[in-house]
Amino acid sequence: MSLPTDASPATPGQARVDLAAIAHNITLLRRHAPTAELMAVVKADAYGHGLVPVARAALAAGASRLGTAVLREALDLRAAGVTAPILTWIITPGEPLEEAVAADVELSAAAAWLLDDIAAAARRAGRPAGVHLKIDTGMSRGGATAGEWPALLERALAAQAEGAIRIAGLWSHLACADIPGHPAIEAQLAAFEDALAVAEKAGVTGPGVLRHIANSAATVALPQAHYDMVRPGIAVYGLSPIPELGDFGLRPAMTLTARLAMVKRVPRDSGVSYGHLYVTDRETTLGLVPLGYADGVMRAGTNRAQVWAAGRRRTVAGRICMDQFVIDLGDDPASVGDEVVLFGPGTEGEPTAQEWADSLGTITHEIVTRIGSRVPRVHH
Ligand SMILES: *Cc1c(COP(=O)(O)O)cnc(C)c1O
Repeated sequence: MSLPTDASPATPGQARVDLAAIAHNITLLRRHAPTAELMAVVKADAYGHGLVPVARAALAAGASRLGTAVLREALDLRAAGVTAPILTWIITPGEPLEEAVAADVELSAAAAWLLDDIAAAARRAGRPAGVHLKIDTGMSRGGATAGEWPALLERALAAQAEGAIRIAGLWSHLACADIPGHPAIEAQLAAFEDALAVAEKAGVTGPGVLRHIANSAATVALPQAHYDMVRPGIAVYGLSPIPELGDFGLRPAMTLTARLAMVKRVPRDSGVSYGHLYVTDRETTLGLVPLGYADGVMRAGTNRAQVWAAGRRRTVAGRICMDQFVIDLGDDPASVGDEVVLFGPGTEGEPTAQEWADSLGTITHEIVTRIGSRVPRVHH
């Protein structure tokens, strides 16, 4: 593992983010959906990879838009000087919508109260708000029901006629795109077609209205779901949206490392970390890795997850603590300051985020988004 090229200050751990991998992944995803626009989803600090540098890299590589879950993320992008179209989709009452409209952040709406609040904010801001109307096609999370859809369209058309909003999109989200062959996929796409037909009949149509439903899994596996735009998230970061089907040629962008904070010989039968869940079976060398669950190294990895240290894989020895955990280095030579790789692209023997996810019974989204604020992101 090579050290980062820029001179970053010494910290116990760091997350190195390879922006060339982000660019590679955007290029690859565009090849999967050549006729659609690509919105890079950069919510949750770009899935833990660092919002602004990732957004810039994605745009430079061919993404035309950015997606965020919450307004703060969109406004942070604008504050950093990012001018590309941004869509935000989770909004609760009382949020600064006038600021959003003034910053030209497009907003999702699936309810009358929100359309009204957006229209009022747009009147105050003195410019129309770009609005993407969301239909629930079967995930039963966000989105208007099919029953609410016609009235939502009418309300939006009235606000548009008055100049308060511009209907910029019609959209939905798939519940099972990562489960190949799941019957909900076709059912949701059929419901989306129905909603689009209702919208077209109501007069919501035209090239300025983007139709979109595809997340990463649908981008790589469901061409019939691409419509006018795809919204990949996890795949932008090089992590497979359908791990059972392989890596799709994606390159993981993040390498999470730490430097050994202590190395010591201990005798046989030494109980290690809280609860003594690991006990040495011989005299051995222990290494202290200064990252813990406060940094996103989940406690469930106790005695289970693996890292790369001193030339080979090591299983976490005993409880992962808030700020640190221990590895058993056997008789291998190691020194304070030596690099430990928790996960990376997997090209030099180190575990991948996918392996961490598998060993913890979760998905890579959770592994990378949980990395804490104490861990600097170093982009190269
Ligand atoms: C998070 C999210 C995405 C991206 O999902 P991935 O599975 O990471 O590709 C797309 N659209 C919406 C609405 C999302 O919330």
